[in-house]
Amino acid sequence: MIPFADKEIDCTSDGHVHTSLCHHATGAMEEYVRSALDRGLREIIFLEHFEAGINYQEATWLTAAEFQLYHKECQRLARKYDGRIRVGAGVEVGLNLRFLSEIKDFLARYEWARVGLSCHFFEHQGLHINMLSRKPENIRRLAAVGHDKVLTRYFNDLFVGLGELEVDVVCHLDAALRYCHDVGYATEHLYLIDEILFRMAQKKVALEINTSGFAVRGEPFPDAAIVDKTRRYGLKFVLGSDAHRPGDVGRCFDRLKSWPRLGLADR
Ligand SMILES: [Zn+2]
Ligand SMILES: [Zn+2]
Repeated sequence: MIPFADKEIDCTSDGHVHTSLCHHATGAMEEYVRSALDRGLREIIFLEHFEAGINYQEATWLTAAEFQLYHKECQRLARKYDGRIRVGAGVEVGLNLRFLSEIKDFLARYEWARVGLSCHFFEHQGLHINMLSRKPENIRRLAAVGHDKVLTRYFNDLFVGLGELEVDVVCHLDAALRYCHDVGYATEHLYLIDEILFRMAQKKVALEINTSGFAVRGEPFPDAAIVDKTRRYGLKFVLGSDAHRPGDVGRCFDRLKSWPRLGLADR
């Protein structure tokens, strides 16, 4: 069964799915495709992690050789499931302003079904801290730096990165520090979010509604206030589950119907 399609947001496409190639997800790519078919989706876009210049204790992204494999397998699956579901190879580009030329070179190497921009890592004293991690060590180090400072740089970097890179969508905009305690946005952060949305509108970059947020805080990323702001800029929404296991493809898409901000319930 096709869940539902809407002119504002296409709920028959999951545009943010990982694979076991990123070292922190499980399941072969074909299992994700089969899961998407079971959910009645008409499209699945893999959005695997690319990072450049990140100094972190583990690699949570693909190597150059793994990206080659990834593209090959995507092409095979697109052919095999042609007529039943569209399968695309995209990339979730991790922002690192110090490595922009490496990022640009990498993006130019392949054809992408979608380029998503996100920023997972905060550089501090030559090392990186994962801002989206639930590991106590990351949470402790982010608190030591100061949440305000981390968020200011996070939003500012996204704003600058959007000016530098050609991307299709900004992923989980307000997911940074999602597992940290006592996080609040200051006026400066809200101002930066507005600047980001304005730049996205100028460059016709979509905003991702990321349903992994339902499991973390009962609503998708980004939160309702940002989605409301987004309407003023006329941005397009695209939907992604951020699945890291096959069973999570299209997760909580049905819950968007009763999430008032998208107005899906009335249609
Ligand atoms: Zn991931
Ligand atoms: Zn992701």
